[in-house]
Amino acid sequence: MNPRHVSKFVMALVLCVFFAPRVRADGETAAGRDAKQPVDEAYTAKMKKYTTEPFFTSPLVNYLPASKNVPTPEAVLGDVAGAPGILPYAEDVYKYMRMLEKASPRVKVFSIGTTEEGREMIAVAVSSEENLKRLEENRAKLAKLADPRTLQLSDAEADKIVAQAVPVYYITGTIHSPETGAPTALMELAYRLAVDESPYVKEIRDGIVTLITPVVEVDGRDRMVDIYKWHLAHPKDFYPPLVYWGKYVAHDNNRDAMGVTLKLTENVMNTYVQWNAQVLHDLHESVPYLYDNTIGDGPYNAWIDPILADEWQMIGARNVADMTKFGMPGVFAHGNFDTWSPGYLMFIAALHNGISRLYETFGNGGSDTLERTLEPEEYARTWYKQNPPLPKVMWSQRDNNNYEETGLLVSLHYFNENKRMLLKNFYAKAKRSIEKPKTEGPAAYVLPADETRPTLQLELLRVLQKQHVEISRLTSVVTVALPLKKEKKPGKSDEKNEQKKDAKPEPTTKTFPAGSYVIRMDQPYSRVADALLDHQYWSPEDPQKTPYDDTGWTFGELYGVQVARVTDGKILAVPMERVTEVRVPGGVKGEGTIFAIENHAEPALASLRYRLKDADMQAVEDAFESSGKKFSPGTILVKGADRAQLDAATRELGLHPVALGSAPGAKSHPLRAARILLLHTWLSTQTEGWWRLALDKLQIPYDYASTQTIAKTPDLREKYDVILFPPVGWGGSLNNIVNGLPTRWGNPLPWQNTPETPNLVGKNDATDDVRPGLGWDGVAKLQKFVSDGGVLLTVMDTAQFATGVGLTSGVSTSVSEKMKIVGSVVGTRLIDGASPIAYGYGEKVAAYCDNGPIFSLNSIAGSRRRRRLGPEKGARPTGRGTKDDPDFAVGRLGTEAPEEPENEAWESPAVTDEQRYNNPRVIPPALRARVVLRYADAKDLLISGLVENGGDIAQHPAVVDAPFGKGHVVMFSINPVWRGETQGTYSLVLNTVMNYDSLNAGRKDDEK
Ligand SMILES: [Zn+2]
Repeated sequence: MNPRHVSKFVMALVLCVFFAPRVRADGETAAGRDAKQPVDEAYTAKMKKYTTEPFFTSPLVNYLPASKNVPTPEAVLGDVAGAPGILPYAEDVYKYMRMLEKASPRVKVFSIGTTEEGREMIAVAVSSEENLKRLEENRAKLAKLADPRTLQLSDAEADKIVAQAVPVYYITGTIHSPETGAPTALMELAYRLAVDESPYVKEIRDGIVTLITPVVEVDGRDRMVDIYKWHLAHPKDFYPPLVYWGKYVAHDNNRDAMGVTLKLTENVMNTYVQWNAQVLHDLHESVPYLYDNTIGDGPYNAWIDPILADEWQMIGARNVADMTKFGMPGVFAHGNFDTWSPGYLMFIAALHNGISRLYETFGNGGSDTLERTLEPEEYARTWYKQNPPLPKVMWSQRDNNNYEETGLLVSLHYFNENKRMLLKNFYAKAKRSIEKPKTEGPAAYVLPADETRPTLQLELLRVLQKQHVEISRLTSVVTVALPLKKEKKPGKSDEKNEQKKDAKPEPTTKTFPAGSYVIRMDQPYSRVADALLDHQYWSPEDPQKTPYDDTGWTFGELYGVQVARVTDGKILAVPMERVTEVRVPGGVKGEGTIFAIENHAEPALASLRYRLKDADMQAVEDAFESSGKKFSPGTILVKGADRAQLDAATRELGLHPVALGSAPGAKSHPLRAARILLLHTWLSTQTEGWWRLALDKLQIPYDYASTQTIAKTPDLREKYDVILFPPVGWGGSLNNIVNGLPTRWGNPLPWQNTPETPNLVGKNDATDDVRPGLGWDGVAKLQKFVSDGGVLLTVMDTAQFATGVGLTSGVSTSVSEKMKIVGSVVGTRLIDGASPIAYGYGEKVAAYCDNGPIFSLNSIAGSRRRRRLGPEKGARPTGRGTKDDPDFAVGRLGTEAPEEPENEAWESPAVTDEQRYNNPRVIPPALRARVVLRYADAKDLLISGLVENGGDIAQHPAVVDAPFGKGHVVMFSINPVWRGETQGTYSLVLNTVMNYDSLNAGRKDDEK
């Protein structure tokens, strides 16, 4: 059907609905205005004008009810919500919400915290006057459903509350800053909910509390509005990309619901939990026209309650049905979003016994009305998208607002109609969380008191506390039974059975000392603790071939601390106490002037180094004994420090300096408070943002500069000891890093604070043009920096950059087309424990890996390591005799071939005599790259998540120290600093920093 015909047809349909009688045969409340309530004619006319097709609106939002005393969004915007050319700052949105609060007893505004840059976040409650008067009373009722222990798990008691309580539906807008429509849609929604007297809206208002955070990423919103205003002022120019959103990260602000490292996550989490809300519904704008991606696609997160999966189906299907009946095209509920990772903001609800929901509507990245052309797969009709979007349309922010508001209103209405059932579900999910030990288990997780990394254990416990998980502590020693390992069926080969006989019997019990932390699973929020602490397995055979995000995240592994999954229910019956404040007591022990601090790769050690930056600190290179106590390599000696200062700092940091009688004889080298530059590109600042966040939290000072700035810095080495060049992420190819965006055409793209763009820079970086890259001058500056003794630390794509521009010799990088390691936790093995980079680490280190890259070493400069031609190792050529016999040559005496050198996948291969002959490219052993960590063998690679064809990276180097001139290029194939979740590998970076001028310590070189 021709689109024009469609519009006439739908128009007729819309009119039918408009004048339909209120009481319908199906018993449903009709959507549409109350004929007795006047309409704001001028506002309604403008809404109609800005809606590009009659079928891009609905009977719920095609009019605006008039009010004598309550201002419409026009009071602040100067036009209607979704008008072209209008994008309000967060401040204006708040101003309007507070005007509503002042004018209507049906609106209350709450401040819910501030952002990293100090901007306010709010939550706006809209409900009947009666409901708002009884908020506290109602909150207490909901709290009982949220924690059924207060009802002795009595369903009958719960039913009494379910019958009276008013549920809370929490909506969050514009977490993703270029997705700009939600704030105006939510302003108008709040107005409608407060003012509209139609039965449909009145039922919502009387039945539930709608809670709205109109702007989640407030810092990013203000930057986006700046950019948009710049665009309006320079309509013919290209406008700069939104390089920074929040202070630290961009799109990943919606991947923080596990680690809770960003203020916005913490603020929404606390609001959700304190209100005991039933739903958290997050608004996004990247799919035409409304994709309720809540149902999405498999695999579903394994830790959610199946009741939730059913709620997703019910609500999603009804949402699509209602909007389809309104004649709105392009509304659907399945698509390419799996529900595996719990990192999304909405997942706060999923793992706290609520309902997580997410809309993708269609946004133009600003408020311009644009002609939009879709991809074939976007407008194709599929089984789940029977009324798909149109291939080409004019699209406005008003259209987007119509979809957002209509979707929300039908959701709120459906939620209200079914609120008793959904409240009962809320209770049931909480009750089932408490019953977890008796059902699927486990009984508890235990973090033992004898942890060698107590400060990292503490950090993990703090994450759980931010998730509102209850923590207890054993008051006496406890032994629990371990689950019996399933007997494997006897194998066919005798060899296997032989091995079994020799194997030591598996332990059947485990003992935890008093003081061990217990995360009981018989608590309402056991689900989130279980999801974070358990292991993940994503089958390579899974029908889902494109995981949407990380596939593994096991926090105990990534924090490098012990976490025991205990299934023995006895653990819940032993004496323990609830802990509200977790801390690690630190401080100086013993008398003396030399103190030793054991090194267990705790990031707090680096905090101490920088805090006492004038103290003499040394890293001891070998193990030693003092007063009967054994110290391992990497132990830190503090000399000549003010004792009181050291005591105060280590108390705060949870570290334990021990006074030594005398200085140990073992060799040591200085541990430095190195001068750090954190280097960023203007291509993307997100992945490095997680590094800034980590350093800031550890209070480690650093300069922050772009590739453009260092290209103009005459002598980098004079200013810095270490340059950290974290992954660029999207677009981080060598070409892009060096060349940036094209500058031979187009206009400069400034990132600067100006009267037009007052919020752009914040506390980050500025430039008059984001386009130029590092340039070849910059490459030369980096090269000189390293040659002069600096250390350049590179990771993933920046490591590929370093090899690509020749900053390493003997290291090559490659990628595998068939390997899939999608944000997984993998095993690595310590190769060189004498390297200062490895101080404090054991033989096995769990690390975050996202598809490599694959490093290979060579001993010959400029050549890539290759598989030797000829027969496989150990294979023999065709010839006489059996498989294991030597061949012979007829008519001559047999000769033994010399032994082939054997090299491991992670090593620099030994140079043969043939290769050495007159070969100036042979790298002297002392200048070859040193492998610190390698990836585990293929069978041990997977710890959590997805590893497919891992053999391609198995055993290859994971962390490499490549000498270059007087300095070093340190290369990571893993990402040691990621989303605040990988604190166990932070010290690989911090060790590099503090030992930057002694990285060759303990180095043993091959002879050849
Ligand atoms: Zn988004």
